[in-house]
Amino acid sequence: MSELVQYDAEHCFHPFSNYHNLNTKGSRIIEKAEGIYIYDENGHEILDAMSGLWCVNLGYSCQPLIDAATEQLGKLPYYNLFFQTSHPPAAKLAKLLSEVTPDGMNHVFFTGSGSECNDTVIRMVRYYWTNLGKNNKKTIIARKNAYHGSTIAGASLGGMEYMHKQTGCVIPDIVHIDQPYAFGECEGDDIEAFGLERARQLEEKILELGEDNVAAFIAEPIQGAGGVIIPPESYWPEIQRICDKYEILLIADEVICGFGRTGEWFASETYNIRPDLLCMAKGITSGYLPLGGVMVRDNIAEVLNAADSEFAHGFTYSGHPAACAVAIANIEEMKARNIIPKLKESIVPYFADKWKELEQHPLVAEARSKGMVGAIEIVRDKTSGERYDKNLEVGMQCREHCIENGLIMRAVGDTMIVSPPLIITKDEIDLLVERAKLALDKTLTNL
Ligand SMILES: *Cc1c(COP(=O)(O)O)cnc(C)c1O
Repeated sequence: MSELVQYDAEHCFHPFSNYHNLNTKGSRIIEKAEGIYIYDENGHEILDAMSGLWCVNLGYSCQPLIDAATEQLGKLPYYNLFFQTSHPPAAKLAKLLSEVTPDGMNHVFFTGSGSECNDTVIRMVRYYWTNLGKNNKKTIIARKNAYHGSTIAGASLGGMEYMHKQTGCVIPDIVHIDQPYAFGECEGDDIEAFGLERARQLEEKILELGEDNVAAFIAEPIQGAGGVIIPPESYWPEIQRICDKYEILLIADEVICGFGRTGEWFASETYNIRPDLLCMAKGITSGYLPLGGVMVRDNIAEVLNAADSEFAHGFTYSGHPAACAVAIANIEEMKARNIIPKLKESIVPYFADKWKELEQHPLVAEARSKGMVGAIEIVRDKTSGERYDKNLEVGMQCREHCIENGLIMRAVGDTMIVSPPLIITKDEIDLLVERAKLALDKTLTNL
């Protein structure tokens, strides 16, 4: 063990980790990065097909983002948006966000992270309904296996059962319906009918609770941490119809999907969703500095602007100047480099075809992708879809082989997922898929 690994094992608690296992094996120290590659302290080069945690959309060496942060730190390293103050980066970014986010969304509440966005939306939707005199509209409907962050509110909105169980932290007035996970949960072949059925669970839940008691529905357009769950095409139009019919606010958690991930600026465009509130983080700064924001639709903003009480909510780092400066540079860079048109015209279709080739592998029952996210389902039997014994931890085995062969892919059970930087080239996509195949081969050999 190197000195650093030892310091880490002896003193650092890591997120979402089993400490005994981690400290026995030791952490992998990542020392530097360039383009879409990260390098550990032994100089081992690894293609980062997860963009860090779904965030480093413009890759690791985007000089304009570094310059924006450095310049802002030199001018005004910190000030806040409390007590009737603002600063240039926050004001400029708010204006810029109103231009790139879906039409009719022109106000933003800044936060420091995705979790804080979701804490914010709980407060904000309840505050909104109270201002309209509908104090009972409090319950928020979310989905099982959703990920909305790790604060108590984020984890409560999320549908990760093991998180709920471990600390018993589900706050009241949040309920969960089933996810539209066709590969894992659709019994027959009719995936579109399955999508409709899962969407209609929202209607059933609203009727069960009474629409006067329901404030909002929250969902990721594509579930990320749950295993890149791409909904059937029938799903979102039905959800939209139901939210409109019963006057339920629709919250799109676009923390992963936003800023180009699906091949459009926002997945709300990809799926033709009309969200009332839209959560952003991760790709908003390509991960260079922490920042989040909740976009608010005009009719809701109007109610909030007319309220005669103060909205008692906010964070010390809501709209941190350096983070906002990086977000501005990130958006400008995406525009200057034509990231979205290039994705649409060539990179997304190329990635889709290449990724689909993995279905030919004996371990892979499904290889799906949308925009620049992908998943493969590892199974024991390709025709029945039967999985390997859980205790074999096949996904984890595969992940280890990936890393050995210079690729970061994430395992969610036996589902392997990727979310590569949006600047990835065709050659690099070839390399990604080649390394994934090699890791699958090695996994199969071991089994
Ligand atoms: C990562 C994530 C969050 C939480 O964001 P943090 O910045 O880690 O708090 C919330 N929602 C979704 C969809 C995410 O993927």
